Amino acid sequence: MEEILKNEEAKSLNFLEEIIEEDLKNGKYKTILTRFPPEPNGYLHIGHAKSICLNFGLAKRYGGKTNLRFDDTNPVKEDTEYVDSIKEDVKWLGFEWAAELYASDYFEQLYEWACTLIKKGLAYVDDQSQEEIRAGRGTVSQPGTNSPFRERSVEENLSLFTQMRDGKFKEGEKVLRAKIDMAHPNMLMRDPILYRIIFADHHRTGDKWCIYPMYDYAHGQCDSIENITHSICTLEFDVHRPLYDWFIDKLEIFPSHQYEFARLNLTYTVMSKRKLLELVRNNYVGGWDDPRMPTICGLRRRGYTPESLRLFAEKVGVAKRDNIIDLSLLEWCLREDLNKRSNRYMAVLDPVKLVITNYPEDQKEVFSAPLNPEQPEAGSREIVFGRELYIERDDFMENPPKKYFRLQPGGEVRLKYSYIIKCEEVVKDDKGKIVEIRCSYDPSSRPGSGEWRSVKGTIHWLETGSVKEAEIRMFDRLFTLPEMDSVPEGEDYKNYLNPESLKIVKGYVDEHILDDKSGVAVQFERIGYFVQDYDSTSEKPVFNKTVGLKSAW
Ligand code: ATP
Ligand code: MG
Repeated sequence: MEEILKNEEAKSLNFLEEIIEEDLKNGKYKTILTRFPPEPNGYLHIGHAKSICLNFGLAKRYGGKTNLRFDDTNPVKEDTEYVDSIKEDVKWLGFEWAAELYASDYFEQLYEWACTLIKKGLAYVDDQSQEEIRAGRGTVSQPGTNSPFRERSVEENLSLFTQMRDGKFKEGEKVLRAKIDMAHPNMLMRDPILYRIIFADHHRTGDKWCIYPMYDYAHGQCDSIENITHSICTLEFDVHRPLYDWFIDKLEIFPSHQYEFARLNLTYTVMSKRKLLELVRNNYVGGWDDPRMPTICGLRRRGYTPESLRLFAEKVGVAKRDNIIDLSLLEWCLREDLNKRSNRYMAVLDPVKLVITNYPEDQKEVFSAPLNPEQPEAGSREIVFGRELYIERDDFMENPPKKYFRLQPGGEVRLKYSYIIKCEEVVKDDKGKIVEIRCSYDPSSRPGSGEWRSVKGTIHWLETGSVKEAEIRMFDRLFTLPEMDSVPEGEDYKNYLNPESLKIVKGYVDEHILDDKSGVAVQFERIGYFVQDYDSTSEKPVFNKTVGLKSAW
């Protein structure tokens, strides 16, 4: 992994940076303007985060700006709930948009331009049904056939289009099509549909419109209206580019340009909004922000930081060919950030009691440890020690293998930040389960008192009177298959849901954690990073496992 990352760093400008530098150098543009254009029909996911970091990042780097434009041309699937979540997520990622805009703000202008195309003899109203239109398109190897309505006069087309707008026709009765070439080698150029009739309430324009522009007709023109210089989208849109350019050319408007990069795919992850919506609607997960979801709000609840996601976007880079990124790279970026910033505490997730028999019953003492060894200025924390402790059940073994350095009968370990103890006796219940480990401690091993004696093992622990019981939600990847895109057509991707993706355990945490004000996940020493969930209360703390200390795979 380190090797790959080093190579990444050595890499020079990516192809988009090259294009932009060239455009600025030769004076094509004085400054650049990009946009992030989500359709408000779902919550943003890590793929969108990549696109956001790219669009906003390029503008920032070259002193330009970025618009947030909602691509709200399909009233049926869109909602203000999604608009609000998208704005929250972009802000949380650390970006500021120059303007908040909506494709629906341009409906009047788009309509006028459609009339312009009609007047130029470049668009016509078609009465054919959806099936007839599809059949007439032909195939990749066969040219299409002209619609019988293709030669309507300009006057008739203008009149029919006005009537479409005025609600005189039913859904599906008529569409507006561009008049390009039914034999064009690019199927998208075979008289594409520009407008269809939809009687639905739009989240912003209400019932003002009953005709709605198609993506291809709207997108480039919206870019042009805003004077977007570099319109960056994912690779599957490269076949749409000729159409994008055709509209701009025929309408003689500001020439925005479209550039494509490879969409982000992640192992063990589905990213299509349709599938994410299905997981939410049918309760396979707890909601859009379930910490196992690849949504930005899910990642945030899981304990991901904006910094880690921006680092990830940078490491992934921009590619011209589709690929799949290993989920462990995302986790690596998260650890990179959390290691620097997380406060450390002790927690015991699978406790067994340990009694120090030669330690006075009513005595307590307090040890000190750095809050974060990576950041001395973070200060220190107090750790209470006493006669009765909890340790992790698997930090003790009755019959250990050779290289086991943790606690064992007759063996010594150091309790982190505290004394060396020696196991004297094990108490079991009638089923043979260990219920108590009895130890002695070496008073001369107190840190800071004279000579440091070392032993091979160090384990973490908690004093039984200084803990809070907590619910800990242990997450694993949501799917079991690395390449979820390889699920064959017809097979249900839900067959690959991981039944073990959520396990809830009860454990103990150092009560000081509940006063932690850092706002980022904390490190449970020797275990991993954990963040308090919003379900958490001081009575009943709840933690989400963010990520382990090391890659589990
Ligand atoms: P759907 O899943 O409904 O097709 P979408 O993922 O294309 O939607 P949009 O809201 O249209 O969602 O996307 C907004 C922007 O984010 C677009 O520019 C799109 O290209 C980009 N984007 C979406 N998914 C990814 C991804 N996996 N990787 C990189 N960019 C993405
Ligand atoms: Mg889309």
